[in-house]
Amino acid sequence: MRKSLCARTFIQLAAVAVFLAAAGGCETLPAPSINLLSTQQEVQLGRELAEEIEQKEAIHEDEQLQAYVRDIGRDLARVAPRRDVDYQFTVIDEPDTVNAFALPGGHMYLYTGLMKLMENEAELAGVMAHEIGHVAARHHGERLTRMYGYNLLVSVLLGDEPGAAANIASHLVEMNFSRENEREADAIAVELLWRAGYDPGAMLTFMEKMQEEEQRRGTGPTLPFLSSHPPTQERIALIRQHLARYPAEERAERTPDADEYREQVLNRLP
Ligand SMILES: [Zn+2]
Repeated sequence: MRKSLCARTFIQLAAVAVFLAAAGGCETLPAPSINLLSTQQEVQLGRELAEEIEQKEAIHEDEQLQAYVRDIGRDLARVAPRRDVDYQFTVIDEPDTVNAFALPGGHMYLYTGLMKLMENEAELAGVMAHEIGHVAARHHGERLTRMYGYNLLVSVLLGDEPGAAANIASHLVEMNFSRENEREADAIAVELLWRAGYDPGAMLTFMEKMQEEEQRRGTGPTLPFLSSHPPTQERIALIRQHLARYPAEERAERTPDADEYREQVLNRLP
């Protein structure tokens, strides 16, 4: 049993490595990290944390908006390098919060404050693909076991630690992954966008918007979505490098779906 789980984890890590190699990103691949959570544990922990999050946060009541985001998530999940988890996206109605985050096991959340800054569907898909990247590369298992220890996580799973799930959930909203994790999630996102039929250049246009937003805010608090990430300038430079690998002509033929985004998202947000 234990052996088969390890074997599966290895195969999944290998799948992410092959995926990134296909994207030409193999030279930036970090050494495979140790993840102490099995997929089953990750999914169960994610479910408990999602309950905590959804009790606290204002889940957007517009079902059409939620369905639009869900459908994009489904298309991205179909081409993701890891497919043994169910990627589920939910919109949180908080127009002043510029954030998005993922839980272990595939629950992911997007704040309307972040969605307001986007101009088209491809940019939204880019952020979603980045969050999928964290889950696909199993960053949570690595990070959470390092932060809390495997034993505490197992106690949470057994229901032996009342209150701990709420505590972990609140940290996950602004979780600090390593810079290497962030670079890997960006590399996966670029390739995912391409595979799902979007122009991966949307990652770049979105990051440039985030940079402008940062500059506009000046010395105030960092945007939560950027706080745990490598400097925006550095991310933009790396994304540019990734983009050079995709044929420009084919990229130009892909529309970013700005009209659809306006109708389905921007016109529905206050
Ligand atoms: Zn990230």
